[in-house]
Amino acid sequence: MTAVHQQSEAGVESLYAPEGLETALKLPKSPEKNATPVHRPETLRELYARYCDCTRCRLGSRRQRFVFGAGNEQAVVMFIGEAPGAEEDAQGLPFVGEAGQLLARILQAIEFTRDEVYIANTVKCRPPNNRDPEPEEIASCLPILEEQIRLVRPALICALGRIAAHTLLRSDASLNNLRGRFHDYQGIKVLVTYHPSALLRNAAFKRPTWEDMKMLRREYDRLTAQQKAEE
Ligand code: SF4
Repeated sequence: MTAVHQQSEAGVESLYAPEGLETALKLPKSPEKNATPVHRPETLRELYARYCDCTRCRLGSRRQRFVFGAGNEQAVVMFIGEAPGAEEDAQGLPFVGEAGQLLARILQAIEFTRDEVYIANTVKCRPPNNRDPEPEEIASCLPILEEQIRLVRPALICALGRIAAHTLLRSDASLNNLRGRFHDYQGIKVLVTYHPSALLRNAAFKRPTWEDMKMLRREYDRLTAQQKAEE
């Protein structure tokens, strides 16, 4: 049995042959010399373990805690914010500061509990002075979010704020332009609304956010009723 077959039988998804073997077997060049085979994580726990010490971008050296995500690992609805703030950085949990308390009240108003949904941020480490994450920081962190979405497999995503919306939808349209309708992210319906911290700064955003949340709840009810009818 060749080394290639041994690796294949070991269940390695990305197969990189040892140096020299590529040429001998006319295999495509490995992306990196001596690259290590990479398994895709099969659980959120595995994903967390892979990245909890991440230093892929400069935010990793400044954080207190890596803020992965929290909630129901099989949630129908996933909320995605921007980045951890001071309180989240201290506790290692998303949306536990003032904006998080407001999000909890919004969830309660549309009859969800935090334990029913899954909550994460676009980037997992706190940017200094709560500045916006830089494009290269978002790009470095995006594989973690993409894997979280793949593993939770929500039917609905609510993008909270411009950073999450632009990242998921690969758009630079204004938030006002994106909100109020469903978009598509790899077959998952995405609703965009204001970030709770924006509501704390500007009460005028509360009414449109409430309209968006009611739309989210209606779609959740429609999808779950449809699923029950199909069972
Ligand atoms: S923000 Fe993301 S990519 Fe950057 S160090 Fe933290 S976990 Fe890694």
